[in-house]
Amino acid sequence: MSGPSPTASELAKAMPAPSTLAAAEQQPVNVLVVGVGGQGVIMVSKLIALLAQQQGFEVKQSEVHGMAKRGGAVFSHVRFGERVWSPTIPLGEADFLIALEWAEGLRWLNYLKPDTGVFICDTKQIVPPFSCRDRRPGAALGYVRETVDEVIAKVAEGYAIDATHMAEQLGNDRVANVVLLGALSAALKFPASQWEEIIADFVPKKTVGVNIEALRQGRRWIEEARKGLPHPSTVPTPAMPVHADYRVRLEITPEWCKSCDICVKMCPERCLRLNAERIVELASPEKCTGCRMCEWLCPDFALRVHLDPVRATEGAVR
Ligand code: SF4
Ligand code: SF4
Repeated sequence: MSGPSPTASELAKAMPAPSTLAAAEQQPVNVLVVGVGGQGVIMVSKLIALLAQQQGFEVKQSEVHGMAKRGGAVFSHVRFGERVWSPTIPLGEADFLIALEWAEGLRWLNYLKPDTGVFICDTKQIVPPFSCRDRRPGAALGYVRETVDEVIAKVAEGYAIDATHMAEQLGNDRVANVVLLGALSAALKFPASQWEEIIADFVPKKTVGVNIEALRQGRRWIEEARKGLPHPSTVPTPAMPVHADYRVRLEITPEWCKSCDICVKMCPERCLRLNAERIVELASPEKCTGCRMCEWLCPDFALRVHLDPVRATEGAVR
């Protein structure tokens, strides 16, 4: 980002007056970003705020982090316009609701403007660890049950996008938030080149390429969806993994592990321990159900649980 920013009025003269930007000169545009800790909610809202500021708008942003660990609810309000008096979006006043997690999206629907609000939601499901009371393989987990069609029917304009899968296809599941930002970028109508410029300035240099591609894919997806591309009509009912279908792999980053013991104490199957160097390790892989509780509860992002599908020729897991 460099050079003096044009004012909102200069910007309006320099480019076609898309409805959202024109509206921002009359009253603030309200964007609510929600998700759970570790998904990049704050990054998304910061990028929107920076871009709006760069365009000459007054911006107010407020955010609530979760419990400083993954799994806690996180939300951020971004408001921009010629004049913005309050940093928080009143109930029923959000122009856009961007949700990085399915159930979190549903929880905030009443913040959307009933007649014009746009809902953009990842179908990614992150089941709160403590809702998994039945830990048998294949057991249904406590989670919202609404279908995508039921949810979309409740809002003026809604999109359910499998952003996490798109990000995985790009080789980096952490850019799912930028796929959603790309979808928003098509609706907000700041120039595409400026979205890309600000992302390139903001993210680590080695991830610029994948982030820009994620932005473009999100943008393309929503442009197609607006022409009538069918969205997924349902999201799968989350369930405990079934052993015969996967191989559990724990990816541990030893240099991030602070030996706090939380994962060891909270693992329902008691299959973790700290080794001689006081770094976590999977002591009893045969007991691990792949429930991910250790991953969600680790405050230092030192653990990731992978469920690698077992190919038919490999047979059962253990
Ligand atoms: S995924 Fe983690 S918390 Fe769950 S059983 Fe395996 S080691 Fe324990
Ligand atoms: S992996 Fe995370 S939760 Fe487990 S001991 Fe290390 S820092 Fe603590």
